[in-house]
Amino acid sequence: MKPAAFEYRRVSSVAEACQCLASEGENARILAGGQSLVTVLNMRLAQPKILLDISGCAELSYIRAEKSYLAVGASTTQSQLQQWNGLAATHPLLHETLPFISHFQIRNRGTVAGSIAHADPSAELPLCLATLGGEVILQSHKAKRALPASEFLLGMLTTAKRNDELVTEVRFPHKKPAMPMPLMNSPCAGEISQLSPARLNLTPMRFGSALAASRTGL
Ligand SMILES: Cc1cc2nc3c(=O)[nH]c(=O)nc-3n(C[C@H](O)[C@H](O)[C@H](O)COP(=O)(O)OP(=O)(O)OC[C@H]3O[C@@H](n4cnc5c(N)ncnc54)[C@H](O)[C@@H]3O)c2cc1C
Repeated sequence: MKPAAFEYRRVSSVAEACQCLASEGENARILAGGQSLVTVLNMRLAQPKILLDISGCAELSYIRAEKSYLAVGASTTQSQLQQWNGLAATHPLLHETLPFISHFQIRNRGTVAGSIAHADPSAELPLCLATLGGEVILQSHKAKRALPASEFLLGMLTTAKRNDELVTEVRFPHKKPAMPMPLMNSPCAGEISQLSPARLNLTPMRFGSALAASRTGL
């Protein structure tokens, strides 16, 4: 199938994206790497009238090590995070997980924030964010707010993001001392995730149980 007709707009700033989200409401949808959204459009599971492409938004392209967390801007790709120097030391879970996200062609286009905003229960990054107790920064034309993963990720393909909001940043807390991060995943990169960030030393668990763990503070 082919997608329903839509208008394509390449935005160059967060302010421009927020303005359009505010005026168009449900008619507008953010396009990041397009690696999940395009399939959804092709299947006509969503038929937005306007796609707001944030991939060229320079202010959203960054990786910054802050005092207690790693801040990843919303147009940063999964490959850029994978290649970031120092990831193995501060975020061993991400370092070990990223290569398992499909193939490099997908990671070269797919964004970190896009994967989290999409909230696929079989995806690696929402699970990592929930397990590490990370945060998502949301911006609308009116306000900015931070939500912990446990409040942002509500279930399968469902988040607490409002229609007029954009995810601008994702925050992964730095590794705490004595936090072992052994990892189980499919032996074959590119297969659907069977990830187990066994911080809790549990049998393989997926998004739902990680979320439950982060909610109960384990
Ligand atoms: C063949 C194939 C195999 C894959 N295998 C895996 C895998 O093994 N593991 C895995 O985790 N993923 C996998 N993926 C998904 C991939 O990681 C996607 O890149 C990711 O899920 C979505 O990121 P994106 O930047 O492409 O987002 P898009 O597809 O552009 O957007 C996805 C959704 O999030 C919304 N969105 C995106 N960015 C924002 C934002 N900043 N603010 C608000 N809303 C936003 C969009 O509106 C859309 O609803 C695969 C994809 C493909 C095509």
